[in-house]
Amino acid sequence: MKLDTSPIAAIATAPGRGGIGVVRASGKNLQPLAQALFGDATLKPRHATYIPFKQADGTVIDEGLAIYFKAPHSYTGEDVLELQGHGGPIVLQMLLQRVLEAGAESGLRLAEPGEFTRRAYLNDKLDLAQAEAVADLIDASTEAAAKSASQSLSGAFSKTIHALVERVTNLRMLVEATLDFPEEEIDFLEKSNARGQLAGIVEALDNVFRQAAQGALLREGLNVVLVGQPNVGKSSLLNALAGADVAIVTPIAGTTRDKVSETIQIEGIPLNIIDTAGIRHHDEATDLVERIGIERTWGEVEKADVILHLLDADQGPTRQDESIVANFPQGVPVVRVWNKIDLSGHKPGVDAAEDATHIYLSAHEHQGIDLLRAELLRIAGWQQTGESLYLARERHLIALKSASKHLDLAGEHAAVSDQSLDLFAEELRLAQNQLSSITGEFTPDDLLGVIFSRFCIGK
Ligand code: GDP
Ligand code: ZN
Repeated sequence: MKLDTSPIAAIATAPGRGGIGVVRASGKNLQPLAQALFGDATLKPRHATYIPFKQADGTVIDEGLAIYFKAPHSYTGEDVLELQGHGGPIVLQMLLQRVLEAGAESGLRLAEPGEFTRRAYLNDKLDLAQAEAVADLIDASTEAAAKSASQSLSGAFSKTIHALVERVTNLRMLVEATLDFPEEEIDFLEKSNARGQLAGIVEALDNVFRQAAQGALLREGLNVVLVGQPNVGKSSLLNALAGADVAIVTPIAGTTRDKVSETIQIEGIPLNIIDTAGIRHHDEATDLVERIGIERTWGEVEKADVILHLLDADQGPTRQDESIVANFPQGVPVVRVWNKIDLSGHKPGVDAAEDATHIYLSAHEHQGIDLLRAELLRIAGWQQTGESLYLARERHLIALKSASKHLDLAGEHAAVSDQSLDLFAEELRLAQNQLSSITGEFTPDDLLGVIFSRFCIGK
């Protein structure tokens, strides 16, 4: 698909009512648009001009500020015109219609999702990782996530990636230069300390991966599913973790029929906690509504990153608990939470057994809740390092992993016993491509389409 570079416009502010609202246009040359909207009034670039926004027939839609950004000194790198009016949905819609109409002759059209940012990327205002950080900053659900997104937006992540690419490139050039002088191959690796250089790059890449993986955690969070017999205290535990009454707590078994989920934060990591309908074994639930609830519960369990299996510390496990455990998917960590220790007389505590970590607590009395929070952080792989994190996306992690794999292969080809310099160079090239795909120097068009289409219109 050929990229359509005609001028675009959209409402840039969030839908709904607000103090102000912004209609934004971008295009190679927006002079004709400004002329059509404001006649001979001159808009000094990057200065706010208080001006009426008028219909073609001269009636006033709104009054506000018009700001003209002359290319290339704008967000998109093109001419940008921003109209700041009052933030009502109707008035902004009218203003947008007026702008589209005024620009119709120059081919102005409604912007597609993410198109402003895509143009910024195509005009080298942002690299791809920074463009993604724009969306991540807007979508950030915790302060820590916002901080990391803003780090990436400022280019810190890109800079680190560029530095890695440069080191790989330099090493690759060295190896390729030597390929032309085969008789020197043998001691080349010694002389240039190529293996040492490679080891240094591998270590640096590992560090970046670790920071990126931690950052990804801030972005994605963890899906935690609460399962257990009716009345063991799932809703109460959710409340205790969330610190608010989000779920219905009642002494009647089987009350929680619809799943109730709550996103809480532990040290800035979003935990999406899902309280499930009391799991009884499928055939034991007679009531249809309850059956549906149970089906849904197992659906949630399949998607879990962690399963919290709640048991009654006072009454001990039931026969149904055995069938609950038998239904758990393989490979998902399980925490066995023994609730109601205020009744059983256990002390709050953690017991790392082979099958699962056991935690003793009381949801109702708020005893031992911190132990559970700490265990959840441990399972999430959270390490408080104090270093800045990159709010990485899955795509970045995959590229980093793949680059790392190619560097390992490069190392094998550079091994003393089996030196194969052309394969060494080739693996370095592949590693370099993977790293470059993160910042977008080496990124196929269809991937760009996928990335930008996830933005909303106006970004
Ligand atoms: P769910 O059906 O698993 O969601 O259980 P609920 O959270 O609705 O709790 C069922 C009953 O157990 C309620 O009466 C709660 O007050 C009570 N309960 C929950 N946690 C505790 C606890 O730690 N100690 C005591 N004594 N009662 C609790
Ligand atoms: Zn409940």
